Amino acid sequence: MTKQDVLKQYFGYDTFRGGQEEIIDALLAGRDVLAVMPTGAGKSVCYQVPALLLPGITLVVSPLVSLMRDQVTQLVQMGVPAAYLNSSLTYRQYLLALDRAREGRYKIIYVAPERLDTEGFQSFVRSAQISMVAVDEAHCISQWGQDFRPAYLNIPDFVDRLPQRPVVGAFTATATSEVREDIQRLLELEAPLSITTGFDRDNLYLEVCRPSVKRVELLARVRERPGECGIVYCSTRKNVEEVCQFLQSSGISATRYHAGLEPEERQQNQEDFLFDRVQVMVATNAFGMGIDKSDVRFVIHYNMPKDLESYYQEAGRAGRDGAEARCILLYSGQDVRTAQFLISQSEPSEQLDPETARQLQERDLGRLKQMTFYCCTRRCLRQYILNYFGQSAPDYCGACYNCLHNFQEIDVGEDARAILRCVAETGQRFGAGLIAAVLCGGENEKIRRYRLERERTYGALAALSQREVQDRIRFLVDEHILELTDGQYPVLRCGERAEDVAYSDGPLMMKAVREERPAADRRRAEDSPLTERQQALFQRLREERAHLARLRGVPAFVIFSDKTLREMAAAQPRDLRQLQNVGGVGSFKAEQYGAQFLEIISDFQETAAI
Ligand code: ADP
Ligand code: ZN
Repeated sequence: MTKQDVLKQYFGYDTFRGGQEEIIDALLAGRDVLAVMPTGAGKSVCYQVPALLLPGITLVVSPLVSLMRDQVTQLVQMGVPAAYLNSSLTYRQYLLALDRAREGRYKIIYVAPERLDTEGFQSFVRSAQISMVAVDEAHCISQWGQDFRPAYLNIPDFVDRLPQRPVVGAFTATATSEVREDIQRLLELEAPLSITTGFDRDNLYLEVCRPSVKRVELLARVRERPGECGIVYCSTRKNVEEVCQFLQSSGISATRYHAGLEPEERQQNQEDFLFDRVQVMVATNAFGMGIDKSDVRFVIHYNMPKDLESYYQEAGRAGRDGAEARCILLYSGQDVRTAQFLISQSEPSEQLDPETARQLQERDLGRLKQMTFYCCTRRCLRQYILNYFGQSAPDYCGACYNCLHNFQEIDVGEDARAILRCVAETGQRFGAGLIAAVLCGGENEKIRRYRLERERTYGALAALSQREVQDRIRFLVDEHILELTDGQYPVLRCGERAEDVAYSDGPLMMKAVREERPAADRRRAEDSPLTERQQALFQRLREERAHLARLRGVPAFVIFSDKTLREMAAAQPRDLRQLQNVGGVGSFKAEQYGAQFLEIISDFQETAAI
């Protein structure tokens, strides 16, 4: 079998997503990997596919019980022999699972880091062939990460003691360089393929809103999406209690989750949400890591989180299935003060010396500032986030609130010609900042030194701000009308298309931030809308899915995602072969459930024909 076959047959997907193929190839070739991918990008496929192709067993070290259980349930549904070993098993269950593992019944075994050192597990791995160790949520090994977990530090020792060193893959969504370096060093990765995939999640709609009364806004947003499930994040337990009660008293099916609840209640509430028995989960940030529910259609932040890392991770729990989903942040100035207070009060961990503790606090305040800027900017929110994570992005995404409301199309033909003239007459040797300053008629040391105030284009765009001129320059670079050299001090030069523009007098349209009126287009159409009939079929398919999920005692999305059912309703396959052309339908699932879903579709078509 090839990796493509595995992807198709087990997972039901036709193509790999960005980064997946490279990672899989490296692991199969025996090269360690350090992969940074945003939540929802598809990390698990990166180790699950090679696990099925490598000869022996793959161990997945994972920090959370619920995460393991979900992943294993999903794998078993796809026909992959998998199991988990953690504290949720009774001792007998644990021994039984180990016995089966010894018999070679599992291809993939999820294990908590604390288990690695135990006697039973050690004796098992000594006699087994371990081909790969995949470390999920690898940032837990670093004290710079958000969820430091000391037991992760035992992993390299564990790997060393294996009879044969397996290939090691580390996976995380945390991108900062400190954490990345820690992972590589502490996990003792050997010349790993280090890969950071794009952080864009183009199915997520982003919005920040400043409501006068948050509750009213929240209720309206939840009601906007009847029947769709979502998460509402609050910063404190008290807020969780209040908001949850408010939603319930307004007739919304909601439940809550925070560290102050009894473990049984937490577990129960989480499952109610997972199994679609309630629509909305109101929670603190304690809820989420390990929640793999792929059909979460909205994540609303009732309070601003303390940094963009947390925000994007939490918001990223929406739309993991790839279908359109909304991430809305309800902002108020009070949130900033609360966050400042929390940072100043936070107890430094005992393992830190005072100097490091002080640095950490300073870093946290810096991050909070960036988070606050996100809430206040009128520019593209996606661009803001991507830039924050060190990735460049166009000024306009067309799928965030700001792009849809604050942008307009303007003709920058004349401005572009002025910029080109300025770049040319100053000798193509200055950067964007200085060129903008010259065009705006600014004054600074460099302008005086190079006597740039004598250039003909000096002050030619004085009607614009330097920022607006820089926006135009960036746009011209994107359009290859200008080009930016590499190196430490990038310099602007005329690009491939410079002449087309310089010698024409036609318009050149650019999207730019505007102050008021709304615009109407968007980059990514919502998933192509279903017709009314298809919508009706989609509902029937969802009912069937709910029925099957109840029968088997698994969450509905484990059977098929919303995106898969939507595609099914549009394509209306007639046989198993056609059914497998639908994204998310692998052979095992087709065999398990195909007949039931095909029957619904053909019944539906017959009633339509009458
Ligand atoms: P992460 O762990 O990075 O947050 P997951 O591994 O849970 O993300 O994947 C998110 C979703 O994307 C899952 O529903 C998964 O099945 C889906 N997915 C992963 N790879 C692909 C692919 N190549 N094509 C389509 N869907 C994919
Ligand atoms: Zn945007």
